[in-house]
Amino acid sequence: MSMATTSFTKKSLGHETAEPAVTPPPASGGTTFVKKPKLGAAKSKKREIPEGLWTKCPKCTTMVFDKELDENLKVCTHCQYHFPIGARERIHSLVETCTFEQMDADMSSVDVLNFTGAASYTSKLEKYQQSTGLKDAVITGIGKIGEHRLALGVMDFSFLGGSMGSVVGEKLTRLIESATAKGLPIILISTSGGARMYEGMFSLMQMAKTCGALAYHAQARLPYISVLTDPTMAGVMASFAGIGDLILAEPGAMIGFAGPRVIKDTTQAELPPGFQTAEFLLEHGLIDAIVSRKDMKTQLIDYLNYLTANQKQPAAA
Ligand SMILES: [Zn+2]
Repeated sequence: MSMATTSFTKKSLGHETAEPAVTPPPASGGTTFVKKPKLGAAKSKKREIPEGLWTKCPKCTTMVFDKELDENLKVCTHCQYHFPIGARERIHSLVETCTFEQMDADMSSVDVLNFTGAASYTSKLEKYQQSTGLKDAVITGIGKIGEHRLALGVMDFSFLGGSMGSVVGEKLTRLIESATAKGLPIILISTSGGARMYEGMFSLMQMAKTCGALAYHAQARLPYISVLTDPTMAGVMASFAGIGDLILAEPGAMIGFAGPRVIKDTTQAELPPGFQTAEFLLEHGLIDAIVSRKDMKTQLIDYLNYLTANQKQPAAA
């Protein structure tokens, strides 16, 4: 039986009463949320234990009430751990109500290589389309964030690990091209294990295709903000996700090309602590800022205000 970390244990010991509660080191803002849920959770634990209502935080191991987690954009109220969030929820959290017009919603992958491993690619596609309700691993469209009309692409890790195949690449490319034609900024929110191996070269060429489209977008002097979420790896990080005018990341996100084990085996060297985390990459200059999910919308609006400020002025002059 684990007496765990409840404050009751400490109080009964008496001599530790001077200690200021059991506050975890939160590091970032929004700390006012920390205390309340903890008390609530401890109290109600005994009464309501129905399955599926609580989720254990993988970072601080606290049981978090699912409803509370949803209301907090899937961020742990105790330690600020950012749980994975679906593309739809994320769009909902950012875009102004009723402004999002989805593009290419029905585009779906074709098994060009007749790929069969443990299971055929076709059967995998069907399985994930059913379980996620998505056609592929990205949702793209035009919508408004604050006053800014923009092109938004959001990846979803729950569809085949957010892998980039021909559909993800094509949808993003069309989105970028449409943004260039309409003179709109782009925000791409990534989460991906990399290229989709079931599509071989068709998958790899999406790296060049998306970057090519972004080059034209940049030539038109339009801003592109790349947001990296946990995890953004391999072919996605090595293409469109890595070349934003501004590159943001969520706290604790794993970001890299090859995984740490591969690098360790190849270099035969001990990896530094925190290797490939957003915090490590910020310190080493690969990304520009770490933005928590709760602040993401307001921060994006601030950045867009800044990035589009001198666009409007010459036009008016
Ligand atoms: Zn936590």
